This record gives sequence, structure tokens and C-alpha cells, in this order.
Amino acid sequence: MSLDARLAQRLEALEGAALYRRRRVLDRSADGARIDSREIVAFCSNDYLGLADHPKVVEAFRRGADRYGVGSTAAHLVCGHTRAHHALEEELAAFIGRPRALLFSTGYMANLGVVAALVSSDDDVLEDRLNHASLLDAARLAGARLRRYAHADAAALEARLARRERAPAFVATDGVFSMDGDVAPLAALGAAARAAGAALMVDDAHGIGVLGARGRGSLEEHRLGIDDVPILVGTLGKALGTFGAFVAGSETLIEALIQGARTYIYTTAPPPALAEATRAALALVDEEAWRRDALRALVLRFRTGAAELGLPLLPSTTPIQPLVVGDAARAVAASEALLERGLLVTAIRPPTVPQGSARLRITLSARHTFAQVDRLLGELAAIAPLFAPARTT
Ligand SMILES: *Cc1c(COP(=O)(O)O)cnc(C)c1O
Repeated sequence: MSLDARLAQRLEALEGAALYRRRRVLDRSADGARIDSREIVAFCSNDYLGLADHPKVVEAFRRGADRYGVGSTAAHLVCGHTRAHHALEEELAAFIGRPRALLFSTGYMANLGVVAALVSSDDDVLEDRLNHASLLDAARLAGARLRRYAHADAAALEARLARRERAPAFVATDGVFSMDGDVAPLAALGAAARAAGAALMVDDAHGIGVLGARGRGSLEEHRLGIDDVPILVGTLGKALGTFGAFVAGSETLIEALIQGARTYIYTTAPPPALAEATRAALALVDEEAWRRDALRALVLRFRTGAAELGLPLLPSTTPIQPLVVGDAARAVAASEALLERGLLVTAIRPPTVPQGSARLRITLSARHTFAQVDRLLGELAAIAPLFAPARTT
């Protein structure tokens, strides 16, 4: 059978299981978004603070391009590490309150690079079973033994650590779980890891900018520092509204990553103008703290309204508010019904989420209005028969 014939079979199977993924072409402009020339309101972006098109961020990007051109022209260790990248790293370290930070091109690459640099094939890597795919892939790339513990369960981690055959161990967790919106029990996970002499890494892609009074993320919310969580990964393409990622930690950790993280070493540095845009976004996290307050008010309004409607909410207090539908085909139908009504909410299906837990991943942004949230609630009420009863994981 030819390659195409084999692939076509595989695609047909996906289609049959309602697991076929399709991209929608968005037209975006200053006055909103359109799909097939119909105006839509999106409830699925990770632009939680609404910084992706903030005039100051756009202006910094433009000025950066004027000064540096577009491409960085080389990897950081060759000659691609400009003043803009360096200033951003220093500002990220100061923002997080750690000695150093290191830029990566994406969060996916940061996770792959960090785990593979710090872990050897003799190590156990312990991960929450609902961790982001990039953290799970990272352990596999490192050739380490991946062990997944029950979701957000520090006692389960402790039991795994006690049972492990090989030392040392490495523990990695999402700070905010990307498809569930709940926050990891970081204090308890940190205590368990420390007691066992295991390093703890937190991927706070969805916490940075959003959680904590100052937007420093889930560690600020839990009052944890570098001793509790020595390895912190943050991404820049979510609340910061730009693109890329960083790792923050000790001087020694960062030097070890510069020497050993292959996804850092063997890739072109991101455009310097992007670093300039991110510097502007980082300043806005402090300057426009009202965005976090607005976001919290929107989350509260959504949760209150959804509870009144009896919609099956997950226990999330973050801007990620998934509605579990269960069946993949019904999740797709719900998403399509909402799009008919001008609301874009993506259906998330296996393997991104566990079998039988397909969902609408609703996300809120400081840019939304109460009226838009109310409209979403009204449309969800109209399609409520598609939702399964509440499910707790
Ligand atoms: C989005 C995400 C990533 C990947 O970050 P990118 O910069 O988009 O590659 C990593 N971890 C988590 C938890 C994420 O949600």
C-alpha cells in the first residue's frame, strides 16, 4: 500500500471517531475577528490580559524591527543574542525575582530542552498525568523513565517517590493545568519533592501574568520561592500576548542550560523585535494591573451564571473554564452550534484530554465585556442538552 493510501486510512479513522482536527481561518483586524466574513467573539485564545494587540506592544515590535531588522540571523551562542534578548532576560529575571532567566523560542522547546538537559536515562521523571504534552514528550526525549501520578495528588506523588527504584528523581507539573484550569497543589508537591531529594519543575504557562496579586503566577499565589521550585518555566505567547518562553532559576541552573539544552543551542534565536515587544508586555503586567482585576470579575461572572444554569463546570478559578461534554462528537456539535451563533469556542478532544472527557475549553480575557460573557451564557443555555452531568476528575 502506498504512503498516501495508508495515511488516508488513518485520516478516515479519525473522521469516523469525530477526532479529525480542522483549522479555521480567522480574519483579524483592529475592530474584531471574522470567520467566513461573519463577525465572531472568540472564547478560546490564551491572550488572557488582552496584550496581543496592545498599542504599546505593537509599537515596541515596530521600533524593534526598525532597529534590528526581522531575523536574529543566528543561534544565541553563535551571533544571534542581541541587546534586546539580553535586556528581556534581565527583565524577566527581575520580574520573577530569580537570579537569572533564559529565553527559549517556544514553551514546547523550553520543556524539551530543560528536561533533557537535566535528566539522564537512569532517572525517573514523575509527572502529573494531566501535564501538558510538551512535558510528557520531554521525559520521553530524555530517554528517562516516565511515571505519571494521579492528577494534582501530592500523596500519590509521595507514594511514587517512596517506591522509586532509581535515584535521583525529577518531578514536573503544570502550574495551571492547560485543559482543566485548576492549579497544582504546589506547596505539597514541593514538600514531597524536597523530602525525597527530587528536583521540582513547574511549567506556569497559564499562571504567569494572571495569577497572584502582581501577576507573577501560581508560585506567587502559593507564596513559593526558588527553594521550593528551583526550575520555573513560563511562556510568553499566553498572558504576555507575544511569543516564546523562558526558564528562571539560579545562576548555575541557567549556565547548565546554556551549555546543555539542545533546543536552546541548536536553533535560531527569536527575532529581536519580538523581545522588544515582550519587554513592553512585561511592563504592562505591572502598569495595567486593572487587567487582572477585570479578568477576575469576568471569571466570577461566568462561573456564577454557569452555576445558575446548572452547567457542568470544573473546579477552576482561572480564566480557563472548560465545560466537559464527554463524547467527542457532541463536543464538536456544541462548538459548531456556538459558531453558528457567532461565538468561537474550540472543542478539545482526545488525545489532548483523556478519553471520554471531550470538552469546550472556554477561556476568558480582560478584553471581554460582561455583555459578551452574558451572551456566551445565553448561548450555552440554548445548547445545554449537549452537556453531560458534572464530572469531577
Ligand atoms: C502552551 C503551553 C506550552 C507550550 O508553549 P508554546 O510557547 O506555545 O510552545 C507548554 N506548557 C503548557 C502548560 C502550555 O499550556
